[in-house]
Amino acid sequence: MSDYIVLVKQVPDVSQITDNAFDPETGTLVRARLASVINELDAQALAFANMMKKISGDDKARIIALTMGPPMAEEVLRYSLARSADQVVLLTDRALGGADTWATANPLAYAIRKITKELLKCGDDYFVVSGMQSVDGDTAQVPAQIAEELGLPCIAYVTGAEYKKKRFEFTRIISGGSQTVATKKLPAVLTVAKYEHTLFATFGRTRWANKADLVQWGADDIKAAHIGAKGSKTAVIRVFPPGKSTRKCQHLSDVKSLAKVIIDSVKSGNGQADQNGDAQAGSYVLPDKRKDKFQRMFEATQKEQDDYNLLIEKVKELGIKSAVQIDDSVKEKILESTGNSIHKKTLDDMIEGFKATRPAFKGEVWVVAEHSDGVVHPATFELTGKARDLADSLETKVGVCIAGDNVGHMAEELIAAGADTVYAIEHKVLKQFDPTAYRKAVADAIDKYVPQIVLYAATPQGRMLAPMVSYRVHSGLTADCTGLDIRDSSRKGDIGLLLQTRPALGGNVMATIRTKNSKSQMATARPGVMKRLPPDPSRKGKVVKHQVELSEDDVSLEIIQTELGSGEVNFGADVIVSGGKGMQSRDNYESLLGALCEGLSNKLGTQVERGASRAAVEQGFIERVHQVGQTGTAIGPKLYIALGISGAIQHMIGVANTETIVAINSDPNAPIFKQCDYYIVGTVEDTIPQLVQALKAE
Ligand SMILES: Cc1cc2nc3c(=O)[nH]c(=O)nc-3n(C[C@H](O)[C@H](O)[C@H](O)COP(=O)(O)OP(=O)(O)OC[C@H]3O[C@@H](n4cnc5c(N)ncnc54)[C@H](O)[C@@H]3O)c2cc1C
Repeated sequence: MSDYIVLVKQVPDVSQITDNAFDPETGTLVRARLASVINELDAQALAFANMMKKISGDDKARIIALTMGPPMAEEVLRYSLARSADQVVLLTDRALGGADTWATANPLAYAIRKITKELLKCGDDYFVVSGMQSVDGDTAQVPAQIAEELGLPCIAYVTGAEYKKKRFEFTRIISGGSQTVATKKLPAVLTVAKYEHTLFATFGRTRWANKADLVQWGADDIKAAHIGAKGSKTAVIRVFPPGKSTRKCQHLSDVKSLAKVIIDSVKSGNGQADQNGDAQAGSYVLPDKRKDKFQRMFEATQKEQDDYNLLIEKVKELGIKSAVQIDDSVKEKILESTGNSIHKKTLDDMIEGFKATRPAFKGEVWVVAEHSDGVVHPATFELTGKARDLADSLETKVGVCIAGDNVGHMAEELIAAGADTVYAIEHKVLKQFDPTAYRKAVADAIDKYVPQIVLYAATPQGRMLAPMVSYRVHSGLTADCTGLDIRDSSRKGDIGLLLQTRPALGGNVMATIRTKNSKSQMATARPGVMKRLPPDPSRKGKVVKHQVELSEDDVSLEIIQTELGSGEVNFGADVIVSGGKGMQSRDNYESLLGALCEGLSNKLGTQVERGASRAAVEQGFIERVHQVGQTGTAIGPKLYIALGISGAIQHMIGVANTETIVAINSDPNAPIFKQCDYYIVGTVEDTIPQLVQALKAE
């Protein structure tokens, strides 16, 4: 009999953002002005656990919902009780506030231990089930880090379950396809990526839920090792509004105009890839190399920036050439001459900062490679390009860590892409990606070589591996970065820090984050944002074989079936036309999208390739190999036409490098209209035949 602990979180309702939810001065979101709701994927996780209980035929299985948050988070627990939870636990304490994912996973894991011992008394027979990620954090790190703290297997991105021969088989999303897996042992952690069979609350159960007793624990009850802001390994430096998309977002009311812009965009190339991506950090140089030794390159608040500029001005006025000349009497003079507008402690910290000239973290810049069937994932090459840029700024080397059964042959290509050293971990146990075995191998290499920066691709595999590895080696991790830069801190001499910028709250704000209390700075970065370097076969590098003790016991999952796309697709074509779920049927996809591809090819004299959203692939409109996006292929054609595609982030990540994006969608509020260059509001059935005619007539 398995019991279930479901993690639920209260989050701001980002789907209902009103204008007054933004602070007019900073442009950032004021969370208190938004309604609070249960995180949608956690509601799905609750329904998923309920489904698991049902299909296993185990009426006695218990479901406990657990949340960590302020007292008002009680609401999501009552929601859970009203639907399927038998009991609920509220972990609430001021001391737990301000935590990053590391200091969130840690107390949650301690609470899970206490639940299994004191409330469920269930031994090892339980599942921890949670949504894949929350809309406010969007990191997908907490469940994997809980698994690491508890030493459990973790199956991420689950979309379905079947109960066969007295065990569960889970379907999950993987890069390029889907997979059916079973866990080799219990307990286990599951993260649900999609389960849209909502649970409804009956009147009677809602009444009971509103009165039921909650178990409430504080920090002293669970005695977790790392809590709150103090126990965290990352700190937010700055929150700011996202830059406006540089796409034109132009509404066209007739197909004639659309045909014209389509032809122009391919013939004269009137488009430009979105400029909101990562700026290369190449401009950073270490303080020793700067003309002005007092100059620091930092990202700071206006006050910090003003204090620093004032200090430099005074130092220069006093004719000071080096930090060692600044003694107490000089400090007094500076404070006096600034009219004490700089605080004494601030002054001490800034002067401390003058003395430092070497990076606060030491070691190489690493990329953890992803590969399948002997082919390196394109995102690994993008990260190697970025790592080259960061390492050159920090005057260090680039290492690529690659784990697998037979990986040595990929080293040459990685060196040509910018690596100085390839750390190859080869073992037969690593034949297929297993999070537990891989995290042991990669963490072992990191423990030995201690790189100062470690980058992973924010693919399903990278987003699973990175949190486990970072937790294991006690380092902070920032998820899904779209910008990575080296900067100094204006205070205390933290030089050459990796600043990690990422969207949060469903893309409504951007946050810049730094690592603290860690040996390495770690980040996952969105595929398609960093630039791959042109391969240079003449580059020289070395391969270091790293041995790790592994056995079959390190493998946590049994892989039952893997479905990957097969066939030939030329995503290098100038024009790619993709169909989404809005195409309605395979027949429509074939006839309508097929006719448009043919019309474009005839008119433009160029190859036109077919693409699809994940939802279209799941509907069977076309084979998986045509999928565009985070778990499909990232493309960068001259022209991308999206037909009946809503514009989900996982899809749009894959088309970020496209010059011109055109969308046809029947919903006037489709999110894709805010991320494309030209759009028409209309059904694909009506619009495509007219467009084909208009193209002929042009
Ligand atoms: C871990 C993970 C990885 C993922 N990876 C990917 C990925 O690589 N690629 C990807 O695409 N998705 C991916 N997804 C899924 C993604 O979140 C979306 O669910 C998916 O992109 C939606 O596809 P869609 O736009 O075709 O369908 P929907 O979101 O259902 O949108 C259909 C659209 O069609 C419109 N429409 C309906 N009828 C018509 C009509 N007659 N004419 C015109 N328009 C019409 C609707 O207005 C709607 O906007 C991933 C999800 C997860 C959790």
